[in-house]
Amino acid sequence: MAQWSVVALAAFAAAGAHADASYPNKPVTIVVPFTAGGPTDRVARDLAESLRKPLGNNVTIVIDNADGAGSTIGMAKAARAKPDGYTLLLNHIGVATAPILYRKLSFDVMKDFEYLGIINDVPMTLIGKPTLAPNNYKELAAFINKEKDKVNLANAGIGSASHLCGLLLQSTLKVPMTPVPYKGAAPAIADLMGNQVDVLCDQTTNTTGQIEGKKVKAYAVTTSKRLTTPSLKDLPTLQEEGLKGFEVTIWHGLYAPKGTPADILKKVNDALKVALKDPEFIKKSEGLSAVVANDNRVTPEGHKAFVQAEIAKWTPVIKAAGTFAE
Ligand code: ASP
Repeated sequence: MAQWSVVALAAFAAAGAHADASYPNKPVTIVVPFTAGGPTDRVARDLAESLRKPLGNNVTIVIDNADGAGSTIGMAKAARAKPDGYTLLLNHIGVATAPILYRKLSFDVMKDFEYLGIINDVPMTLIGKPTLAPNNYKELAAFINKEKDKVNLANAGIGSASHLCGLLLQSTLKVPMTPVPYKGAAPAIADLMGNQVDVLCDQTTNTTGQIEGKKVKAYAVTTSKRLTTPSLKDLPTLQEEGLKGFEVTIWHGLYAPKGTPADILKKVNDALKVALKDPEFIKKSEGLSAVVANDNRVTPEGHKAFVQAEIAKWTPVIKAAGTFAE
């Protein structure tokens, strides 16, 4: 209790009525707004394993893949769910990019959710289908410049991380490619491995295994520094390759529907902090180049302020990307 700030306590107190002290006494559902088997799903399933014990009663955690429309279908579902602690939402940067990219949403990310904390930061990788001719980033850039919209660029829907990365790539190279939207990165990478689409920019939580297995071609990472994960450390950054200022890191956060009782929110937040320190979760995360958040970022007010800052950061970037953002 001592480390709880007055602001955090006030935020939780304002959040809703008192809770059922026996929480959780039935399965808790985490809505994941992308397809099963993808990078956001990977984070959710790994976290769920480590969250069961600290949440209490070794509770069963069910992952509900409410996929589609760049995570906005799942976010809407979670926003409408009964605010009783038995429905949570785990989503990535889409919480910040959807309000910028969609003219109309049935929910308000600032008003319709309780913020529980940031989970991690995850780099992205630029990858290509196995038969794509280019063997390195320079060759890929030349290929894109030449083939332009003949190049198919997969993404997980408007407002998804892969969409954001893809539109930044197009606007930086000033070359339009043909976007191919999916409901998540799992089907996108499956089609990439099957040579159905050409290029994908996606989180390392999805691409590491496929890169290691040589099932895709890997060209670059989107972080400002190279990664240290042995299998990815030789990939250049896009900045190194001359894409000035190009940096995309994807973060994940945990949410509850607005009005979830304050004591349940505190229970989940406390459990989240414990789960993020679980050596098993840390080990799995490190293997996929994900950086687990420290306690400072696992606060409702810090998480909400961070999302607000991300919306402010990406709004001008996405607006400047102009027609590529259509
Ligand atoms: N990584 C995907 C994206 O592009 C979503 C997913 O997790 O499937 O946002």
